[in-house]
Amino acid sequence: MGILFKNGTVITASDMVQADVLVEGEVVTLIGKNIDAGGHEVVNCKGKYLLPGGIDVHTHLELPFGGTVSNDDFDSGHKAAAFGGTTAHIDFVIQPKGGSFHDGLRTWREKARPAQIDYGFHMAVTDLRPEVMDEIPSLVDEGVTSLKLFMAYKNVFQIDDTTLFKTMQKAAENGMIVMVHAENGDVEATLTPSLLAAGKTDPKWHAASRPPEIEGEATNRAVMMSGLTGCPLYVVHMTCEPAIEALRRGRAQGYPVMGESCTQYFFLTAEKHLGAPGFEGAKYVCSPPIRTPHDHKVLWQAVRDGTLQAVSTDHCNFWFEGGKGPWREWAQANNGSNWVAYEQQDPSYRRPGKELGMGNFAKIPNGMPGLEERMMVMWEHGVNQGRISPMRFVELMCTNPAKIFGMYPKKGTIAVGSDADIAVWDPNKRHTLSVSNTHMRTDYIVYEGWKVKGKPVQVYLRGKKIVDGDQWLGCNGDGQFVPRKPYAPVL
Ligand SMILES: [Zn+2]
Repeated sequence: MGILFKNGTVITASDMVQADVLVEGEVVTLIGKNIDAGGHEVVNCKGKYLLPGGIDVHTHLELPFGGTVSNDDFDSGHKAAAFGGTTAHIDFVIQPKGGSFHDGLRTWREKARPAQIDYGFHMAVTDLRPEVMDEIPSLVDEGVTSLKLFMAYKNVFQIDDTTLFKTMQKAAENGMIVMVHAENGDVEATLTPSLLAAGKTDPKWHAASRPPEIEGEATNRAVMMSGLTGCPLYVVHMTCEPAIEALRRGRAQGYPVMGESCTQYFFLTAEKHLGAPGFEGAKYVCSPPIRTPHDHKVLWQAVRDGTLQAVSTDHCNFWFEGGKGPWREWAQANNGSNWVAYEQQDPSYRRPGKELGMGNFAKIPNGMPGLEERMMVMWEHGVNQGRISPMRFVELMCTNPAKIFGMYPKKGTIAVGSDADIAVWDPNKRHTLSVSNTHMRTDYIVYEGWKVKGKPVQVYLRGKKIVDGDQWLGCNGDGQFVPRKPYAPVL
């Protein structure tokens, strides 16, 4: 006995057709007209769309950063993702300094134990010693086919051009893809201290420390290296015209270069959001920074004309008002040195968050929540407002991420043989986004009060219903690691 999704409209990257979809076990086994209901559980999808489960290829769950750890983990983050229609994501494993890739993988596998949706891993390279370079091909055997390099965060994650070039050569030999955080970290590391020295410490100065030119310059450098090495490149979180132009030039040259932007970069501005009164702007601190209305237009154009291939979130959320609770007293009494042990004693405790950067914008933990809202916000402002078609929406949110990162056609589409990751999407359902109804572990969202029309009402992960209206039906451990294939297509 299977599950028969009856009378819905199936949307893929290429088609939008009325059809029944039969799921048996974990996969789609039949798509057609008037499929016989005989013995199957029938889900009436009249007036609904059937979308492939969303794939967010850029998340940071339980990420140690700047003296704290991001709030959402592979439990709460997965639940939130699913309520927003996302059934798979790829998280960034951070290679520990002095350690190996496999040390990092071990840590992230442990974090992923409570998984409730499917997930993969990218490997963030932080310390490329010769023996670590030799480790690169073995990642493919582990189903990890993407390497992430930071051109920013000097003295923390930043790699030099030698490392970038050598990694690309090695990745190309092994059918892997290189991802870059493209900002010139040397320039940023020069600008930031001079801003702080001039008393410019409020959140709004974060944008001045990371101007668009440094993103454009680094993007161009990575694009050229990709052309030189033939290594497929995926530029993460692109935000501004100089960067988009660099990618567009590379693509026009026939280089194997691709890019994404993230939801927040289409809507938020440095002036209004980072410049909000008091310390409020800290909520919106992420790198690269949010930009201008002009850049929003550039990004929409880039998703329309195919310069950008995907939209993800860079979900990495920290409390706006964190560090709450008497942990210092507790730590003193218990010989503890930090909040980590205390957190286990007191579940209501909020670990440190954005307040770490009060009086110094450079110490504000970078990142914001967004994993749950990505599909609803982009549907409202993309599809409902006529900027992109429903098919292009599916392509950006589901299909391209799966193709680029070697998960297609298991993930990213509704086709015979594909995993039955399905969001039953009600295009008429109205919803107001708010911190009061979010499933993310957060004390704010960046789309507070925004109204959307179109929302997933039921979500299935490999044939199992995990979301039904407001009800959570998923289980810890149900989420599976998705091993990815090398030599994925360049789109
Ligand atoms: Zn990121």
